[in-house]
Amino acid sequence: IIKFDKVVKRFGDHVVLDELDFEVQRGEKVTIIGPSGSGKSTVLRILMTLEEINGGVVYVGGEPLWHQRKGESLEPAGEQHLRQMRSHLGMVFQQFNLFPHMTVLRNLTEAPVQVLGVSKAEAKQRGMELLEMVGLTDQATKYPHQLSGGQQQRVGIARALAMRPKIMLFDEPTSALDPELVGEVLNVIRTLADEHDLTMLLVTHEMHFARQVSDRICFFDKGRIKEQGKPEEIFTAPKEARTKAFLKAVL
Ligand code: ATP
Ligand code: MG
Repeated sequence: IIKFDKVVKRFGDHVVLDELDFEVQRGEKVTIIGPSGSGKSTVLRILMTLEEINGGVVYVGGEPLWHQRKGESLEPAGEQHLRQMRSHLGMVFQQFNLFPHMTVLRNLTEAPVQVLGVSKAEAKQRGMELLEMVGLTDQATKYPHQLSGGQQQRVGIARALAMRPKIMLFDEPTSALDPELVGEVLNVIRTLADEHDLTMLLVTHEMHFARQVSDRICFFDKGRIKEQGKPEEIFTAPKEARTKAFLKAVL
């Protein structure tokens, strides 16, 4: 459902993704690990069309993301194509990024109403279902600043899900949280990981959690996949020296 084909991303002279080849199958749960600056967030930001690419092609659902098909060849995508492609994906960031002046429920209904054209009643019903899923039905009329970080992040997850994405991207969703609030957010993500059809791409430093929920672990180093495999393989018997050194430092 996701494919990076020799994708190059540069910031000035600095090569962040170096002809990256990377695939995720529909329904697969994949975790990206790797040192700071290895390009993990860049991969997610490219998928959300928050960053442009300098070479190669990214496909989502078989369609080129940053390009459009024109006969036999590809040309740069227009805004309408990008908007349509973006609608397949939901993203949860380290920072919660909720709309501060809107209630929790309004945070969940705003985009479905404005972007998808869903009726307000339907959006509210779906919003309340999602709040139930993340355990926050009693917080619907509160404002973000009235919630704990863990609660805000659970709203963030619900807000992404309100757009009914096929693919959920998580970039260190628990890194900004106090330690005692991490578990409640991981539990919500764990529930999502049980959904067979949902594709999940996760960047996290929670190695124990990654091992539990992932079908596959990808170790990124210098803008490429240095090693990948089943969690058991990567965590107990990594082959590459770089992977071993990284895991030794973080585990
Ligand atoms: P971390 O674990 O610290 O989050 P990461 O693997 O997510 O790291 P990226 O955020 O993808 O790393 O960044 C990869 C490289 O690209 C880094 O060296 C970073 O400094 C650089 N970079 C990212 N965004 C920009 C930008 N907007 N302008 C210039 N350089 C950038
Ligand atoms: Mg990052």
